[in-house]
Amino acid sequence: MIYKFFPAYSATVLMCFAGFAGFGGLASAAGDPAARSGADAFAQLDYLLATPTDTRLATGAPGPGYWQQRADYRIEVTLDDKAQRIEGRETITYHNESPHDLPYLWLQLDQNRFRRGSDDMLTRTAPDFSQLSYGALASLLERRRFEGGVSIEAVTGADGDPLPYTVNRTMMRIDLAEPLAAGDSLSFSVAWSHNIIDATVVSARGGYEYFPEDGNYLYEIAQWFPRMAAYTDYAGWQHKQFLGRGEFTLELGDYDVAITVPADHVVAATGELQNAEAVLTEEQLARFRKARTSDELIFVVTPEEAAANAREADSGTRTWRFRAENVRDFAFASSRKFIWDARRARAGERDVLAMSFYPNEAEPLWSQYSTAAIAHTIDVYSRYTFEYPYPVAISVNGPVGGMEYPMISFNKPRPYKDRTYWDVAQKAGDKTWERSKYGLISVIIHEVGHNYFPMVVNSDERQWTWMDEGLNTFLQFLTEQAWEEGYPSRRGEPAKMTEYMASAQQVPIMTNSESIHQFGNNAYGKPATALNILRESIMGRELFDHAFRQYAERWKFRRPTPADFFRTMEDASATDLDWFWRGWFYGTGHVDVALSQVELFRVDSLNPEREKAWEASREAAEEPSLSEQRNVTLERLLGEEPGLRDFYNESDEYRVTPWDYAQYEKALDRLTERERALLDTAEHFYVVTFDNLGGLVTPLPLRVSYADGTVEELTVPAEVWRRNADRARKLFITDREITGIEFDPYRSTADTQPANNAWPRKVVPSRFRLFKESEEPNPMRRDDEETWSQPIR
Ligand SMILES: [Zn+2]
Repeated sequence: MIYKFFPAYSATVLMCFAGFAGFGGLASAAGDPAARSGADAFAQLDYLLATPTDTRLATGAPGPGYWQQRADYRIEVTLDDKAQRIEGRETITYHNESPHDLPYLWLQLDQNRFRRGSDDMLTRTAPDFSQLSYGALASLLERRRFEGGVSIEAVTGADGDPLPYTVNRTMMRIDLAEPLAAGDSLSFSVAWSHNIIDATVVSARGGYEYFPEDGNYLYEIAQWFPRMAAYTDYAGWQHKQFLGRGEFTLELGDYDVAITVPADHVVAATGELQNAEAVLTEEQLARFRKARTSDELIFVVTPEEAAANAREADSGTRTWRFRAENVRDFAFASSRKFIWDARRARAGERDVLAMSFYPNEAEPLWSQYSTAAIAHTIDVYSRYTFEYPYPVAISVNGPVGGMEYPMISFNKPRPYKDRTYWDVAQKAGDKTWERSKYGLISVIIHEVGHNYFPMVVNSDERQWTWMDEGLNTFLQFLTEQAWEEGYPSRRGEPAKMTEYMASAQQVPIMTNSESIHQFGNNAYGKPATALNILRESIMGRELFDHAFRQYAERWKFRRPTPADFFRTMEDASATDLDWFWRGWFYGTGHVDVALSQVELFRVDSLNPEREKAWEASREAAEEPSLSEQRNVTLERLLGEEPGLRDFYNESDEYRVTPWDYAQYEKALDRLTERERALLDTAEHFYVVTFDNLGGLVTPLPLRVSYADGTVEELTVPAEVWRRNADRARKLFITDREITGIEFDPYRSTADTQPANNAWPRKVVPSRFRLFKESEEPNPMRRDDEETWSQPIR
């Protein structure tokens, strides 16, 4: 593990910055990742990032020494629809491309997470019983009841002889008689079985759904076979135990999978179907072939055929064969309830077959939106990254909320039984998104989008959630906005992130998946917002899009680390972004800039007529004090005894005297022609003070209004904070009077407190709603409905 918790990096920098010890922010810089001294905020990330090597270059690209392992799989699996159980046998061919000899191999047994007494079960902390939902209680009880975990039936070498193995919770070590030498390959086989979990009760990324109306099951099967753990240049074996949240770190390889299911099941899987002739009717086969070049949606299995399948359960079995090349995983779905639709999607110049599988319960939403959303996702993502490299892209409706696998994704939203649905979720986090149109479109965009990150750009999910979820959520936002004007995106716009950014209980984005607080905001929303701000306000679309595409291209079918992303974005754009990564990814500060003061300076002309008149006008403009006002009628001694008056009582201090003129002449004599001209400077010098209350340094997009009615917009780059991250005093030289200045007029910085952004301040209008107090009938009224149903007066 190379994970480094946020270190006290500030200490070294602070020493060079002792001169600013007066800053309040300095003390917080040592412990608070939102470094407040400018030197801290703009220090290079050097010691936070792994040292570049010839495997991973300082540019952020893979180097000449780059290597990664490869694992090819041949699998035969049987789905037991009676017992909700998987039985499988696989042969893995492991290619050791590393420069190291390996004495043993590690495999992942993810299903052991569901074993009683697993680390996941034992380390789970108590739920909040003050607000436990019915669903949460059902899940707790099902986890206690379920007979989970993998049974390993056999592990054998290529010669058929047993290989010794050791299971350590969710990992299995296979010991080799001879180390697997650098550059060599090895084949071995594993036979296993496990029970399938009820995914309507336990959130498990895979499992079954039972339909009591027709007695049928729908299966979404994932993390179902022993998979090679990743062996990497930066972490060795990535065999951090599976606790349920940090997802999957996997090797790329080719798959040949035979799936045996009840004869009337329809199967969707990673890869291309190899034996369509054997599993489809002639009519269905013709439709399937036609869909490949059709821009119109075609039903391969129609709603009527699916309904008929669901009625008459067949007792025989049938085997579906799939092949997939260069994928990091394999998932499938199976049910006799599946409708299957398909059409062509375009990825740049390539044709991709987009397909959806769903029960009749998913209609009418699914035939209208699912496959259309797949095609749209592939189109937009291909433009911002690389052409979708796989032949098919699939969306399946079932019990899993939203989960991604190579070429296939599981997406939960479906309408109510009466075929009605919401447009958007009614409030953040509630279940109505599972019954909403935009909930469905968004989750499909998101899960199909995961084909790019992490399925192809193969980041380490067990360690870093943001590397796939954050980048993917950012592209999801671009794709949603390209769907329709005003698309109700949940994440992406900076203003949607401000509540989280200002909240307590935060950890940096650069935190291990299992330890993240506020998971969705931290690993999805905040990085997506950060990338949006980088693109719109810091780098600009052209530089950002080029650099982002560069990252995707460089790490396509490879395994990047965070440093590779940070470095590539800078390398391809000539933009030093270390301050940005530090603040947004390693820190928990937020943007809250207050425009706290505006001062106006003008040149003193030295001309006594002009300057004394200005001073006189300043004094005249000054309001009398309260005492002065109340003393107006006061009888004063000087009025009664004029003999007390002298020269100073009579003279006007603003009168210009011959001595003043002489001083002026003398001053002018000492000046050159150029210097004298400067005394006539007519410009206004406005000094605007910005206070950084949130800790995160930010560019300052500004709108300046002038007395003549014109408006100017400009952006001051974040480097304005590079010496003092607490306060920036910015000079504006104008020939006109400024009447107003506004920071962040388009809410593009995630500033959490817009109320302090404008000079002069703006009123924040709002509404408050009165509530009616409620009362229960007292026990004397409870026996008779007639009585208690009457309003209490
Ligand atoms: Zn995701």
